[in-house]
Amino acid sequence: MAEKLLQHKHCRNCNKAILPDLKFCDDKCEGEHKEMMRKKRNQLLLLMVFAIILMLITVIPVYFSP
Ligand SMILES: [Zn+2]
Repeated sequence: MAEKLLQHKHCRNCNKAILPDLKFCDDKCEGEHKEMMRKKRNQLLLLMVFAIILMLITVIPVYFSP
């Protein structure tokens, strides 16, 4: 089993092979990944706000209709 001897992980940002106790190949990559995650989170938040607004728009007329 050669795979066991060549144990390694991949950088979370660029997918480069790295040591198993590392998460990123270097600090720059870690920074890039954090920035990407921040943007993703913001996009998700925006999507949620949009969904809530859309829900309110569809629900409110039902409450106000006789
Ligand atoms: Zn990397």
